[in-house]
Amino acid sequence: MKKKQYVVVGLGRFGSSLSKELIKLGHEVLGIDRDEEVVNDMSDILTHAVVADATDEDVMKSLGIRNFDCAVIAIGDDIQASILTAIVVKELGVNQVVAKALSELHGKVLTKLGVDRVVYPERDMGIRVAHQLVTPNLLDYIEISKDYTIVELSVPKRLCGYSIQQLDPRAKFGCSVVAINKASGIIIAPTAGDIVNENDVMVIIGTNHQIDEFESQVI
Ligand code: ADP
Repeated sequence: MKKKQYVVVGLGRFGSSLSKELIKLGHEVLGIDRDEEVVNDMSDILTHAVVADATDEDVMKSLGIRNFDCAVIAIGDDIQASILTAIVVKELGVNQVVAKALSELHGKVLTKLGVDRVVYPERDMGIRVAHQLVTPNLLDYIEISKDYTIVELSVPKRLCGYSIQQLDPRAKFGCSVVAINKASGIIIAPTAGDIVNENDVMVIIGTNHQIDEFESQVI
């Protein structure tokens, strides 16, 4: 994977966690925050960390922001600062701009300003946790369209030793097991004879209704 250069504006809970993960993944991160204490806390972890007001175009220009592959605006609470930073970063011509929004309206404004991707961490995590509460074996899910979802389900003890043929989600419910993740490795496109064991993770694709039926009747 090619090493990329990211600039993360706002090193609050979201920005600092995102920056640390980017560093872990082998990329370079310039962190910017107007709070000196926050910058000091991150200075040993990030490639560079500077105290600056991101709404000041001259300062941002002097930091060479335009040369970065991607800018992440991780300011949430101060909506005015978030919007002004988006304007500055877009004006400077950064290739890709991602911004966090606290509300739909905040997100709409960011999109209108040309932000390439708006993320809603609080809203999305709320939805995710609700799904996991309702389906305790659900580890993760991706909505691939309004109707279709891919889910990761942990195999309960009860189903230990069952083969895909015995579970047969495709014939019974219409959804398919596309992979089984085992401690020993991942089986892609498992065949009828493959066996699931406790703590394996089944990756299943289907309509929301098919997956709901499989979860409630089998898992
Ligand atoms: P979180 O909910 O992820 O903790 P916050 O909105 O509370 O996010 O924190 C955002 C961070 O952005 C804070 O550390 C704050 O100091 C910083 N910040 C806010 N406005 C600016 C600005 N104009 N320039 C640089 N940093 C800013």
